[in-house]
This record gives sequence, structure tokens and C-alpha cells, in this order.
Amino acid sequence: MITSLNPATDAVLARYTPHSGEQVAQRLAQAARAQKTWARTPLAERLALLRRVARVLREARDELAPLATLEMGKPLAEAQAEVEKCAWNFEFYADAAPGFLQDQVVPSGASDSRLVYDPLGVVLAVMPWNYPYWQVMRAAAPVLAAGNGLVLKHASNVPQCALALEDVFRRAGAPEGLFVALLVGAGEVAGLIQDPRIAAVTFTGSTPAGRSIAAQAGQALKKQVLELGGSDPFIVLADADVEAAAKVAVKARFQNTGQSCIAAKRFIVEQAVASRFTEAFCELTRQLVVGDPMVAGITQGAMAKRSLRDELHAQVLATVKEGARLLMGGRPVDGPGAFYQPTVLDQVSPDMTAAREETFGPAATLLRVADADEAVRVANGTPFGLGAALWTTDLDRARRLSREIEAGAVFVNGLVASDPRLPFGGVKESGYGRELGALGLHEFTNIKTVWTGPARV
Ligand code: NAP
Repeated sequence: MITSLNPATDAVLARYTPHSGEQVAQRLAQAARAQKTWARTPLAERLALLRRVARVLREARDELAPLATLEMGKPLAEAQAEVEKCAWNFEFYADAAPGFLQDQVVPSGASDSRLVYDPLGVVLAVMPWNYPYWQVMRAAAPVLAAGNGLVLKHASNVPQCALALEDVFRRAGAPEGLFVALLVGAGEVAGLIQDPRIAAVTFTGSTPAGRSIAAQAGQALKKQVLELGGSDPFIVLADADVEAAAKVAVKARFQNTGQSCIAAKRFIVEQAVASRFTEAFCELTRQLVVGDPMVAGITQGAMAKRSLRDELHAQVLATVKEGARLLMGGRPVDGPGAFYQPTVLDQVSPDMTAAREETFGPAATLLRVADADEAVRVANGTPFGLGAALWTTDLDRARRLSREIEAGAVFVNGLVASDPRLPFGGVKESGYGRELGALGLHEFTNIKTVWTGPARV
């Protein structure tokens, strides 16, 4: 059974029988048929669907947002903002896709040579629960704009969100089968990747699952984009605006109850300002209001699963045992639901558990360093390379240091965030390929060279 459970109350919301092999085959056949027609549908018509999807998302915001909050525990205001962002992404691609898909004339010896962007086919999207709408829809907009179809295998704890998204496409008048949600477990993914009706895979989730999917897609020689885990550094140099940094730092760590791949996870602070930063950071963290995520004013909801809360707690305990100072929190909240106290660990060194591993929840790790060079060394001392934040008022130095940081994105004096206009992705064990922007759309196209003779000799 696939169970929808409210992590704030432990109540079972719904149970679904997983799709049978026959149902999966039927849906894949439908997706393949729909995509063939879609690929030949004029771009303007395709983009009109994207605009309708954006409209339906906005109209349905107050149905969709509570569903996400109920299934995975994020504060309702954050779920509402997530739905809005999905709509923005669909509008962005509706406006930008004609430019992104325009032929690129490349001078050569031919009378005409150009690159054209053809769709690949049906893309399998294997997605996580942490932004149950955004993760899916940030991939879906460019995938569909380019003329592909999409089959979603969503995380097993958000089946209602998966079905709600299928319904959004239905209400927007999408061709039957263009966007299909499969209710299946992770064990079915390998078979889906091998299926000849699947042309490519986009995966967002943990690094171990990404490794496994990469191996399967590699075996099947299918294009893949992998958006995996992260342990983003948040570097505060001595010349930074420390108060502004602390304010953004708290949001960067605790939004989405700390369950974001690009959440700041390691705060690397130059010794000269470490006490000031720590004080300001703790002061603001104390103001977080933990509780029922459906209630207005709650700023930290439940974690998505009890097992994840247990994992985070084990990381916190191990780090304290290794010598870190616990400044606040450090315990699950008593009572029902997967709540965890906002936690701050100080005097952490790079070899301690919370600095080495991804901490996917509301626990901040503070590391003190002597200077900017050490800050960059510590920032890079991780297998991950997703986002990074750098705080300094010396922008020349910021530009130089940002080239030394091993990450898919460096945000100077700001919050690391995904934005439809900017490519998003990682290096090292955070994955490869890019989503969003023009690159995100080109990932799932056949960039075809068309050469027309006779050659000019
Ligand atoms: P997860 O356990 O890897 O699950 C993600 C998806 O993959 C789910 O649909 C899951 O299905 C499926 N899955 C799990 N193991 C699989 C396997 N061996 N083979 C095929 N599919 C498999 O990740 P999560 O706990 O949901 O999400 C948290 C992780 O995602 C964190 O590491 C976070 O950093 C990362 N993340 C990365 C980004 C990014 O853009 N880089 C964004 C968000 C999250 P079931 O639910 O059925 O198990």
C-alpha cells in the first residue's frame, strides 16, 4: 500500500493500492502516444497549455497548498508560496521557450548549418517529497515546452500531491497521457528506466538513490539529470554585514523545516565575527515558532517522516559526543508528530558528523575559521557541491573567491534559491546536469546539427 500520512499528527490520510504492472504498461503506452502527437503540435499551442497550467495552479492554490502541508508538514504559507512559484515557472517558460528553442545558425563551410532542438520523447521524473509541487513542476515546464511527455514517479509519502498535479493538467486541458502520475514504489524504477517508451530520466533526491538510478540509466544508455543531496556552506567573512547575514542565515537553514537540498547546512564564520554572528543567529532562531503547520504564524512545521527525525537526532547526538557545543534544541519535541526543536551546534570541526554528512532538518552547524582561505578550504571539504553563500562587503574578493568554491551556484550576500531564470544544479556528489533557465530546457532535447550543402569551398 502507498500511505498518505500527516507527519504533524501521525494520522493516516489515505491509502492507495499501487498501480499494477498492467496499469503501468497502459499508462506508459498512453504517454508514448500522447508525446508523439505533442511533439508535432505547434509551439504556440504547446505554450498555451503551459499558460493554462499556470492559471489552474493559481486558481487551485488553496486546494493544493493544504494538501502539501498535510502530507509533508511544511507551514501552510510556505506551501502557498510553492504553488505560486510553480505557476511562475510555467509562465516563464511560456514566454522564454520560443527564444530557447530557436534554431542556432552556426557558420561553417555549408551553405547553411544550424542547430535545431528536437524533443527526446517521454521523460521519467523520479521526485522527492520536500517540495512536492515545485520539484515536479520545475522539471515539467521545460520538458513539456520542448515537446516531450512526462511520467512522474513521486515519493511514496506524497501520493495525494502526485494525483493533484495530474488533475491540474487535466483541468488545464492537457492531452490525455501527456503528464502521467504512477503510484509505484522505488522498486519499480529500474523497470521503468529499461522500458523502451522512456527516453530519459530526471531524478531529484538523495545521493545513494541517484547513484543507483545513474547506474540503471547508464546501462540503458538513457540521458539523465541528477539533482542530489547537498551540504551547502554559508561563509561569513570578517568584513560582512553580520546582522544581515544572520537574518538570511536563519531563513536559509530553517525554511521548509530545514529539509531543502540548498538549505545552508554549514555556517563557516571568520573568527573575528564568530561571536557576533552566533549571538544574532541564536537570537533569531529562538523566535521560530514550532507547531501545527496548518496554523498561521507557525514558522517551523513537522519533519516529513519520523525516520528522518530520528536520523537527524542521531547526527546531532553524534556531533555533540564528538565535542561540539549544543547552544539550543537538540531534541525531538515530545508528543505526536515528527517535530524537532530548532537546534544550533557551535564549535563544530570539519571531521564531525554534522559537518561531514548532509543534515536534512532543523539543525545548524557553526564552524569557526581563521581567514577566507581556510573558509574556502572548509567549504570545499565535502563530497557535495550544490549551492554556497558568501558574505563579504568586498565584491572583488567575492568574485575571486566564488571561482574557488566547488558548487553549482554561489550567491554573494543573499539567500541561495532556485529561480526559473537561472540554471540550477550541482557538481561532485550533488549530481550533474542543469534544471531551469535555457540549459534546463536544452537538457531534454536532441540538439541536432542540420548541415545543408553544397559546401562553400
Ligand atoms: P530519496 O529517498 O532519494 O527519494 C527520492 C525519490 O526517489 C522518491 O520518489 C523515492 O521513492 C525514489 N527512490 C528512493 N530510492 C530509490 C532507488 N534506490 N531507486 C530508484 N528510486 C528511488 O530522497 P528523499 O528522502 O525523498 O529526499 C531528500 C533528498 O533529496 C536529500 O538528500 C536532498 O538533498 C535531495 N534533494 C535534492 C534536490 C536538488 O535539487 N539537488 C532537491 C530536493 C531534494 P520512494 O518514496 O517510493 O522511496
